[in-house]
Amino acid sequence: MTHILVAVAWPYANGPRHIGHIAGFAVPSDIFARYQRMKGNQVLMVSGTDEHGTPILVQAQKEGLSPQALSLKYHEVITEDLKDLGMSYDIFTRTSTLTHEKAVQELFSSSLENGYITLGEQKVAISPLSGRTLPDRYIEGTCPFCGAKDARGDQCDECGKELDPTDLINPRSKIDGSVPIFTSKEHYFLDLPALKPYLEKWLEGCKGWRGPVMAFAKALLKDAKPRAITRDIDWGVPLPPGPFAADPNKRFYVWFDALVGYLSSSLEWAKREGKEEEWEKWWKVDAESYYFMGKDNITFHTEIWPAILMASSGVKPEDKPSSFGKLNLPTQVVASGFMTMKGAKFSSSRGVVVYLRDLLKTCQPDAIRYFIAACGPEKEDSDFSFEEMERKINGELVASWGNLVNRVCTLIYRNFGKIPSPDHLDEGGEALLSSTLKGFEEVGSLIEKNSLHEALSKIMRLAGEANRYLSDAEPWKAEEPQKSRILFAAAQAVSDLNVMLSPFLPFSSPKVFSFLGLPSSPSLPKVRKVEEEGEEWSEICGPYEAEKWERHPVAPSYPVPEPHALFRKFEAKNEA
Ligand SMILES: [Zn+2]
Repeated sequence: MTHILVAVAWPYANGPRHIGHIAGFAVPSDIFARYQRMKGNQVLMVSGTDEHGTPILVQAQKEGLSPQALSLKYHEVITEDLKDLGMSYDIFTRTSTLTHEKAVQELFSSSLENGYITLGEQKVAISPLSGRTLPDRYIEGTCPFCGAKDARGDQCDECGKELDPTDLINPRSKIDGSVPIFTSKEHYFLDLPALKPYLEKWLEGCKGWRGPVMAFAKALLKDAKPRAITRDIDWGVPLPPGPFAADPNKRFYVWFDALVGYLSSSLEWAKREGKEEEWEKWWKVDAESYYFMGKDNITFHTEIWPAILMASSGVKPEDKPSSFGKLNLPTQVVASGFMTMKGAKFSSSRGVVVYLRDLLKTCQPDAIRYFIAACGPEKEDSDFSFEEMERKINGELVASWGNLVNRVCTLIYRNFGKIPSPDHLDEGGEALLSSTLKGFEEVGSLIEKNSLHEALSKIMRLAGEANRYLSDAEPWKAEEPQKSRILFAAAQAVSDLNVMLSPFLPFSSPKVFSFLGLPSSPSLPKVRKVEEEGEEWSEICGPYEAEKWERHPVAPSYPVPEPHALFRKFEAKNEA
């Protein structure tokens, strides 16, 4: 039994979630977490909304709301989105809690004391029209590395390189198109060059990462430069006592604060449980941690967050750890590609978008999850289309799995009203159950490697094998005792496959167990109301019970209920 932290990327609280978001961070992390619980490991799955920084300010201005009101509004929307997708967070909180603020300040202060945060001059961009500071992401220009025309001042999405606005060729303001004026201001910097040898050593020891993610992480470190972690902005976590504490217009840069969310949400969870020290079990000694995100976030999780953890925990004998003690570095950074539509990135502003909320109106959450697990941008980008979604859902989930469950359970119910009691199994039944039994090991090791495409196709191959067994053995024509033999084997095969599908299909798998007269523990997320300083919000929470990842033997003579269809067909033509 291992303590496993499942750390899921924090969505910006500036709008509802679209299918590109949930394909990158959400569904893959939830399948992994659910599987690990089934294996008997202690999972803590944490995340929340990222509520600071310019994206929030810009959207708030658009909607005529205060940044606080806007982030609360979208926190509630996103919480509902993710709950309805069945995301089994132990806590889904926000970056605007007091626990979060204190954790950010504490990691900053200890990193400063250990000498890994320094003061320095940062070139900042000023808009010549408004005279105001222009945030990095609102400056566009040509990428000096790959020549992409619309690189942002913080990062080039094309080649993934981190940038400073001053790196851009032909910089211009995204807001008014003006050419920014650069001046120097004093800011705090995270001293990445000082931590570089330790980061390299850590990466060397990491195992099981996706090849491109590791290659990218190593390449990033080669040109590590100090990075400013404060900004001239009035919306963000305030600085603790020090040179800028009195300046309300200097705050932590949003990514410095958001990354600390993994820790602060764990602290917040422990507080809710009434066991304040409990979080340590997922952050120290033998615990493992898996971080899930889209590939645009690799830099923050393979370089910046480990650097913050090292700086605040200490790497040299003379360094002193923060009040949290020495914290674990990520075991694995599981970054996925992008889901695109007709080859372009999803973009709410350009109208290239499929919102999760809209999709949930016509498509069952398990069907959405199935499609993403089968076709999502696991190792490389994948292109979304409603037609492909229809093919996958109707052709595999409904026609293969749903049909198998329905055929077997209906035949058993109509013929016996209970699980049959065969004298023994026939040869075909023995072979089928030997395949499905082996499936636990094979499918399990694929999920452990986050190879969900392969895991799912393995399960669907086994479902095909079970369907063939039925077609060949024809239980609807067979006489006793052969009829009982066939349907008993088929029932056990359905149960085996249903266990393997549980992490993928949390809404329908408890129903399948009930059709087979087996107990099941539904494990869907709940939402509770939380209040702090007069503001109330919703928080996704557990606890979650998990089936064991092993054969659940169906019980001869156990009565079964009348089954009903599990899945609806998905019609691409209804979506537009
Ligand atoms: Zn580039």
